Amino acid sequence: MEKAEFIWMQGRLVAWDDAKVHVLTHTLHYGVGAFEGIRCYECEDGRSAVFRLREHLVRLDQSCHILGIESPYTVDQLVEACLETIRANRLKACYIRPLIYVADGEMGLGSAMVNPIHASIAVWPWGAYLGDEGLANGIRVRTSSFQRMHVNTLMTKAKATGHYVNSILASIEARRGGYDEALMLDVDGYAAEGCGENLFVVRGGRVKTPPIATVLEGITRNSVIDILRDQGVVVIEERLTRDEIYIADEVFLTGTAAEVTPVQSLDDRRIGAGRPGPITQRVQKEYFEILRGRRAAFSQWLTYL
Ligand SMILES: *Cc1c(COP(=O)(O)O)cnc(C)c1O
Repeated sequence: MEKAEFIWMQGRLVAWDDAKVHVLTHTLHYGVGAFEGIRCYECEDGRSAVFRLREHLVRLDQSCHILGIESPYTVDQLVEACLETIRANRLKACYIRPLIYVADGEMGLGSAMVNPIHASIAVWPWGAYLGDEGLANGIRVRTSSFQRMHVNTLMTKAKATGHYVNSILASIEARRGGYDEALMLDVDGYAAEGCGENLFVVRGGRVKTPPIATVLEGITRNSVIDILRDQGVVVIEERLTRDEIYIADEVFLTGTAAEVTPVQSLDDRRIGAGRPGPITQRVQKEYFEILRGRRAAFSQWLTYL
């Protein structure tokens, strides 16, 4: 990865190579921690803006609340800290990774309640997560043999570090099999989401996305629903089966990292024409226009540096 100069740790900017933790850091062993993935874009006018910064940091705070740990910083403090970290690194565009973790101290499971809770924010330049080629022409997806965790196994509304074991098992399986990404089904067998992206399916001009019960409530998902409705497209939150995806006209995945990525096939069944369809292209184009600061109607989603 491309390093930046500084990482924010507990209120201080430290050199990238010095941003270290103790090997007995509780989160490293047990996975109780919360994180965010946020992007800062270079706008048309040369300024830089972070997309939905406050919404991400509110979710970070809520993830901590769900996990039963208390963030050591308020949302307002973290908003400032993110902006400070980007400015210090003099980056025009970057990915932003805040992390709240249980530090070292005691080692028992109950120590999540007594050990200090720490925060860090790293930023680095990061291009298209599923590749420029994927963004333009669509990716190949395979249904995972791993299920999305049950709502009462792990908490699906928290973006928790430990949850990513589930996502990474699915991701590695898909990539080893020669696919770009995995589709995860929920424990009832309905389509849930990608490893770190929400799912959208277009059939007969209407757009469907799984309800939030079993999936992470993606901020890109919410943004895309707003964009589609603004474009006059009907969006329904409804359970989907994998065969409904096989016969869909268009499918795409959304996430801060993946942005709006078209899907060209699922389990080797071509979707629609096997190319990004018109609704996918229109929403993807509008999403990028908003990020570049070209849409006054959505300017409240941007925080300029
Ligand atoms: C982060 C994440 C997403 C995407 O959320 P955004 O807020 O759009 O970045 C989707 N699914 C999972 C499991 C995630 O962790």
